Amino acid sequence: MSEKIIYADNAATTKMSAAAKEAMLRCIDDYYGNPSSLHRAGQAALKEVQGARETISALLGCDAKELTFTSCASEADNQAIISAAKTGAQNGKKHIISTSFEHHAVLKTLEKLKDEGFYITLLNVHETGVIRPEELEKAIRPDTCLVSVMYANNEIGSIQPIEEAGRLCHEKGVLFHTDAVQAVGHIPIDVKKQNIDMLSLSAHKFHGPKGIGALYAKKGILLTSLINGGEQERGKRAGTENVPAIAAMAAALKEECENMDENTVYVKALRERLIFGLSQIKGSVLNGERYDRLAGNVNFCFEQTDGEMLSLLLSEKGICISTGSACASGSPEPSHVLMALGRSRSIAKSAVRISLCRYNTEDEIDCIISEVRKAVEKLRRS
Ligand code: PLP
Repeated sequence: MSEKIIYADNAATTKMSAAAKEAMLRCIDDYYGNPSSLHRAGQAALKEVQGARETISALLGCDAKELTFTSCASEADNQAIISAAKTGAQNGKKHIISTSFEHHAVLKTLEKLKDEGFYITLLNVHETGVIRPEELEKAIRPDTCLVSVMYANNEIGSIQPIEEAGRLCHEKGVLFHTDAVQAVGHIPIDVKKQNIDMLSLSAHKFHGPKGIGALYAKKGILLTSLINGGEQERGKRAGTENVPAIAAMAAALKEECENMDENTVYVKALRERLIFGLSQIKGSVLNGERYDRLAGNVNFCFEQTDGEMLSLLLSEKGICISTGSACASGSPEPSHVLMALGRSRSIAKSAVRISLCRYNTEDEIDCIISEVRKAVEKLRRS
């Protein structure tokens, strides 16, 4: 982009890091063979894929064989849920538990399963966007085959009690999946210690490229391939591996994990400055937990305004923010996440999400505060 912008929509996607770009170009230039080919070029590309698999699995605390590369996290979410449902149905278990504010990759897959005769329970996330473990415990039935709870919410940044949820599932012999798209690279994750059986991730949320993701599935879980074709990914995901994107995803995640503590302190300080500034605007309401939220997440409603109009006014000033999930933009309906928190339709329609990363600066935050204030006043006058 040639013009100067302030990019504050990092929950939608992030700018690729130099480390990721370098890994991607290296593969484009030098490792262009097909990893399934037996010749030297193919084997060199395969080595890149396997190296990336080892790097990512070490960062998640799992075995390399437990990681399957996918085209995105939506695919990983679909595959995790459909696989658990298929195994569950074979064992006479057709009940799945999730939450009311999951990403649509989870919710729409569950809707489809419901049409096919599965029973779905969606847990309440209460006012701050956090499930209550005791409610999860009560919801688990003898026929429950899967619990899927997102690690951190993409709109309001609330973080779920994942380790405890996983423990409750394991006590009752139920598989536990987490959509950790907003958490990986931002929050320390150890799938074994945190009782996670399946986990979905996406590179473009941690300064990696778009169009590449992964699914961790604990050894022994039978994954159903969603794509018919070759035997790539040990038969779990057909299609030639996207070698440059896989290598770039590993490079990006390694860099984010190595610098996580320092990035978190820096980004949290920006978040607090922004929350403080926006709270001074009359009629502002912060959505989600005050402190226990993703370091870069800020989500506010401004009474008597419209979130979409507000974000368009900011875009005219070169400030990129959003009303919520990029996948739901353009929808006339208010955010299902904010409705799940119990917000009224009109308040939910006024929400904006501002999501920060390590590339943002204090000056940018001050500019955002000032422009949001002006835009809110303008909308209220109109
Ligand atoms: N899950 C969550 C929580 C997300 O935020 C997103 C992306 O916005 C996805 C899943 C889908 O990720 P992808 O774009 O890789 O399909």
